[in-house]
Amino acid sequence: MIENQKGFMKKLNRISIISICTIAACAALVVLFMYIPLDVMQNFLYENSFTSFSQPIFPIYVRLIMIAATIFLILYLYRNRHMLKKEIYRREEVERESLEKGKKLEEALALSKATLEATADGIVVVDKNRMIVGYNERGAKMWKAPPRVLKPGNEKEIVQYIMKLVKDPAKFVSDIERLYNSEPGKEVKEEIELNDGRTFERYTMPQIRENEIIGRVFSFRDITQRKAMEEQLLEQATHDTLTSLPNRIILHDRIQQELRYAKRSSKMATILFFDLDGFKLINDSLGHDFGDILLQSVARRLEGCVREQDTVARWGGDEFVILLTSLSQEADIVPIVRKCLEEVAKPFIIEKHTVSITSSVGITILPNDGSTVNALLKNADSAMYEAKALGRNNFKFYSSEMNKNTENKLELINDLHEALETGQLSLNYQPIIDFQSGSIVGAEALLRWNHPTKGFIPPDKFIPIAEETGLILPIGEWVLREACSQNATWQKEKLSPISMAINLSGQQFRQKNIAELVSGILKETGMDPKYLHVELTESVIMENSQTYLNYMLALKELGVNLVIDDFGTGYSSLSYLKLFPVDKLKIDKSFVNGLPENADDSAIVRAILAMAKQLNLTVVAEGIETIEQFAFLRNHGCDMCQGYLFSKPVPAEEFSALLKKNKFKELSNKNNVVVKKSKASKQA
Ligand code: C2E
Ligand code: CA
Ligand code: CA
Repeated sequence: MIENQKGFMKKLNRISIISICTIAACAALVVLFMYIPLDVMQNFLYENSFTSFSQPIFPIYVRLIMIAATIFLILYLYRNRHMLKKEIYRREEVERESLEKGKKLEEALALSKATLEATADGIVVVDKNRMIVGYNERGAKMWKAPPRVLKPGNEKEIVQYIMKLVKDPAKFVSDIERLYNSEPGKEVKEEIELNDGRTFERYTMPQIRENEIIGRVFSFRDITQRKAMEEQLLEQATHDTLTSLPNRIILHDRIQQELRYAKRSSKMATILFFDLDGFKLINDSLGHDFGDILLQSVARRLEGCVREQDTVARWGGDEFVILLTSLSQEADIVPIVRKCLEEVAKPFIIEKHTVSITSSVGITILPNDGSTVNALLKNADSAMYEAKALGRNNFKFYSSEMNKNTENKLELINDLHEALETGQLSLNYQPIIDFQSGSIVGAEALLRWNHPTKGFIPPDKFIPIAEETGLILPIGEWVLREACSQNATWQKEKLSPISMAINLSGQQFRQKNIAELVSGILKETGMDPKYLHVELTESVIMENSQTYLNYMLALKELGVNLVIDDFGTGYSSLSYLKLFPVDKLKIDKSFVNGLPENADDSAIVRAILAMAKQLNLTVVAEGIETIEQFAFLRNHGCDMCQGYLFSKPVPAEEFSALLKKNKFKELSNKNNVVVKKSKASKQA
């Protein structure tokens, strides 16, 4: 274009010069024509001669005017040429500018096209007549639309095409209609679900030029992955990972809803609080993986017992909660609970093991048994504890008295934390007497809690709580240290050396480092291990015989004696005892109680004594309160005895006084006489 312009200018210059020359020549000719020929003609006409130029034809002023006019014409011509040149320059400038602008525009277009293509979103631009005016490749790809469909102006086909892809075509159309008809100026963000499982986020805004809406820009983003992740996070936050059951969050929410609904409806809802009986035992003995599978299986069975509208949730550990809704009457609850109990109690076959487990259920009814979700759950939990106390595989409806029990229990837990730190715990010692010699050969250390306001709290009441809360571990360690150092003190005081029996709770025994702990304390207190008698209840030993055998062997290696406490209550086979490195059996006082009249008790005691003799085990009988019991046991070969007949458990000072006197020798002798006398009287 510029090249052309230059050529044009050259041409123009040439033309101008030529034209100026021509004009100048013309002017000269005009002057000559007007000056010379006229003069010559005049001369010829009047003088008949061509030679004379005597007199010009025009007066001088006419000639001057003509010359001036010629000059003016030339100047005028020159000026025109100049103006023409200027105009050409101006045009040239304008053309250059527009060329530059065009170039910039081209660049800008290329940039926006590149940007459009580089964005992660699919973009479709539609004009106000709903015709596609532009789109990017990503947009086409996301919608899997062939170019034919996206052809500008192809409105019908594109709508039909999209309707086939989206899950809810009717909504898609109504959304578009709304955008064009009632909300043309609005920016909208929505989600569109596709039949192929993808989800798009659609953002749309009007395209405005000079305050006028000329179309709409739609941008689509594939949010399928993000949605899946969000759903997964929500699932994790609201469901238990092990059983996939709803967790406390959902349960809380559903109970809340039911609570609101129950207040204004004739239907009722109920909460069943499940706790598996003895799950810990299975978990400890068969392993946590096994326990996990069992929990999953229980979850599936519970789900199978209720309707779809009910909620089965995992409360935590081996606890499950079922929310039953839309029940017409209280009588509907019991059959469902029974069904659940029966289903759970059916044997499970897991990893070739057949296990059976039962559960205990506490029941609260909405809204009578609690005005808040927490109160309802707490009360159901209390009722569950009552059900457990009834024996396994049971259920119990909540009653307001239970609350009192729970409150007391919570208070006790609180106080027990303090008890150890503030020296409220102490040990009493009960003598153990040898039947033959009648002298004290041992002591059993028994824990006492003297509460500052509640007074004496029996161990049967607080030890289960200490076990439940794990407090038994520091408490038990304290007992062990205290009893060992007391025994060492007596020996230092030169009192006759006796054994010291301490009670080890299951939890303490299950600690992997129990032998280490005992050995440390023995060293620390300077007590000879042979005097320490560790009492383990029969039920604890039976829990996991193989693992516990190792713990027992480790204790035995220290030189410590092992005693089976409460013997006879765990129904373990006597021959089983051979497997354990046990030194002593303690016949439970429930059997001693019935002696000598109760035929069953006396048969059991006789059998225990005979068996123990065969196995070379020492037998202690506890809970001896009467001379008759004492005599029966001695006559059947029992080795040692313990009971109120001799002494209740007493504080250390009192015990050392007993030890110094050792008066039981007399009692033993006296009893010999008494028994002989009574036998004699019977015979008589
Ligand atoms: P246990 O080991 O069977 O202790 C014997 C219980 O029988 C003691 O009750 C004792 O006072 C009681 N007793 C002894 N002779 C007689 C009698 O002639 N008649 C009657 N009726 N009872 C008698 P206590 O001291 O109340 O202890 C109860 C249970 O608490 C103990 O039963 C034991 O299982 C547990 N316990 C006590 N101290 C400790 C301890 O330091 N650690 C652990 N883990 N448990 C303990
Ligand atoms: Ca005991
Ligand atoms: Ca006992």
